[in-house]
Amino acid sequence: MRENYCYYCGEELNLGEFIRQNYHLSREYLITLWDHPAVEFLCCGCFRSEALKQKNLEFKGKVE
Ligand SMILES: [Zn+2]
Repeated sequence: MRENYCYYCGEELNLGEFIRQNYHLSREYLITLWDHPAVEFLCCGCFRSEALKQKNLEFKGKVE
């Protein structure tokens, strides 16, 4: 099984945790993603700050 690290902060990610966070997707699909060499992952913290950044961008877009 591949070891995955957060794309931004380098924190080691856990497959069990990844499956729990994406419980709406099938386990087989998640394991395929996890082992895919071209797929990068974010930890929870970085994922949240990315989501916030996206929201800010959308918000700015509306104001201008
Ligand atoms: Zn991170």
